[in-house]
Amino acid sequence: MRAAVIGAGIAGLACARQLALAGWQVDVVERADGPRADGYMMDFFGLGFDAAERIGVLPRLRKASYRIGSVEYVDARSGRRTASIDYDAFASALGGRLLSLMRPDLELVLLDALGDAPDGSVRVHYGVPYRASEAADAGTELGARLAGADLVIGADGVHSGVREALFGDETQFVRPLGLRAAAYVIDGAPDLHAEFDGRFVLTDTVDRQAGIYGLRDGRVAAFLAYREDAQEGVDPDEDAPTRLRRVFGGLWSPIDRLLERCPAHPYDDVVAQVVLPRWHRGSTVLAGDGCQAVSLLAGQGASMAIAGAELLTDLVGPCRDAASIEAALGEYERRWRPVVEEKQAAGRRAANTFLPPDRFRLLLRRWALRASTLPVIDALVMRSIAGGTGLKGRTGV
Ligand SMILES: Cc1cc2nc3c(=O)[nH]c(=O)nc-3n(C[C@H](O)[C@H](O)[C@H](O)COP(=O)(O)OP(=O)(O)OC[C@H]3O[C@@H](n4cnc5c(N)ncnc54)[C@H](O)[C@@H]3O)c2cc1C
Repeated sequence: MRAAVIGAGIAGLACARQLALAGWQVDVVERADGPRADGYMMDFFGLGFDAAERIGVLPRLRKASYRIGSVEYVDARSGRRTASIDYDAFASALGGRLLSLMRPDLELVLLDALGDAPDGSVRVHYGVPYRASEAADAGTELGARLAGADLVIGADGVHSGVREALFGDETQFVRPLGLRAAAYVIDGAPDLHAEFDGRFVLTDTVDRQAGIYGLRDGRVAAFLAYREDAQEGVDPDEDAPTRLRRVFGGLWSPIDRLLERCPAHPYDDVVAQVVLPRWHRGSTVLAGDGCQAVSLLAGQGASMAIAGAELLTDLVGPCRDAASIEAALGEYERRWRPVVEEKQAAGRRAANTFLPPDRFRLLLRRWALRASTLPVIDALVMRSIAGGTGLKGRTGV
């Protein structure tokens, strides 16, 4: 059996590995020229953590993870700490089943884990963008294999081209949550690194929030989120660095130093969820953010991408004909959709605490975080934070 996987991100690589282990020949096409080096720090817990353990990649993820003792909120004028999240307490509220991972490291672990599959069973083709208009082009050897695949998995992210080819324009399915987020990693800033080495610091601010973290290799990661309606809208002609400097300039001096070094093309996108009535048509199916994006507010998108990939491939892996593949895809959707909907609802609930829209909400969040350091309240608050949402900067209390 042959599969074509579009997108070598989290869902795509996880699907490719599991299918190859089930005896399939898999071609993965990825538009980027190689694994992405840029990214952001992620909480990794929940269903994806469990799935990663079952499929045997957890030890490698542990090795790639960061040790974060706490997340600090600071007053942007004085730099004084206003509140903090005790990460060790969160980890214990989750039974220790929490990792802090840079997204590129997660991708690299999954790429490396393709080596567990039989030799030659997975081929990853970088620098090959999928285009609907060319999908049936069998003029090349790769084109012929893609066109002749028994199963096509669209794992090409929130703005999925496979989804567009199957079901139409993304405006029907991508639901913006009113925020934008940007992230990038810079090199050659030893002053910033020395100040933030091993510390995850977020500004305790209304409508816009900037985060900074010193990585173990000397680089510094930036994370910027803001409410679109509180700014002057997004001018499509304004490039991302200009917009980020306009929105965040003057917020806090370390952030100004980060903005000076903002690359030409940072990660910069709307914070959105994806909701669509069907996830498959015939033998083509969507996986990961393309059909189930929960958004960074839910803090479990990557985790859900792995867990969804495990379920999909468990169901479809044993299939050896078109009818059973289609039945398996229906079953995947039937079982997985309610789980996704629950995480999406939790993500939407977290929006106002993640990025307070006014000072009252800001103070409420500060109070809740401080209360969480008191005995008795801590376990309650921490479980509620970890229950439906991510942790860093996503205080769903
Ligand atoms: C700032 C931020 C913080 C986050 N924090 C967390 C967190 O704490 N915990 C967590 O679990 N999740 C988090 N997430 C969510 C998580 O990153 C995503 O849910 C996850 O990456 C989705 O995986 P995916 O494989 O579906 O999509 P992606 O990771 O987006 O991968 C899609 C791949 O498809 C490729 N592609 C796209 N179009 C094409 C095409 N036409 N042809 C070929 N290839 C194509 C892309 O280049 C990419 O490699 C966060 C997200 C953001 C933005």
